Amino acid sequence: VKRDDCPLDKDELGSRTWSFLHTMAAYYPDNPTDEQKSDMTKFFHTFSKFYPCSVCAEDLQEQLKRTPPQINSQSQLSQWLCMIHNEVNKKLGKPVFDCKLVNQRWRDGWKDSSCD
Ligand code: FAD
Repeated sequence: VKRDDCPLDKDELGSRTWSFLHTMAAYYPDNPTDEQKSDMTKFFHTFSKFYPCSVCAEDLQEQLKRTPPQINSQSQLSQWLCMIHNEVNKKLGKPVFDCKLVNQRWRDGWKDSSCD
């Protein structure tokens, strides 16, 4: 059985989930409709109730109370998610990510063309 065909541990689930969340934020509209804004807010609240790592989910629910999703544009949502992820990074003793680079990391690729 390949390792890829086994259940995910907390770190594998985390890194794949962050990939999805940051990519979703990268493709959120620049000018979302009221419905898109409301749906994105609901998405994060619902997501935080079902994320299958209980300490992670509880922590995210607290973060959402302190700093609700910023849903007015792609740039706002991506910066907000970067900040939320950095709070988790700090808690775990991981390096803080430079949020200026978030669109290069998750949407456009690095300026040096290394992703082309
Ligand atoms: P990850 O943190 O998974 O990051 C993946 C990639 O994202 C990195 O390689 C980097 O390129 C990029 N990246 C890093 N920081 C940012 C940023 N701020 N903005 C944009 N991109 C960035 N684990 C726990 O042990 N306890 C918890 O409470 C916990 N809470 C979590 C809450 C959520 C919502 C999620 C999705 C995960 C949580 N995790 C938690 C898992 C944890 O965050 C990591 O995913 C896991 O430790 C694996 O880390 P990693 O080194 O693979 O990189």
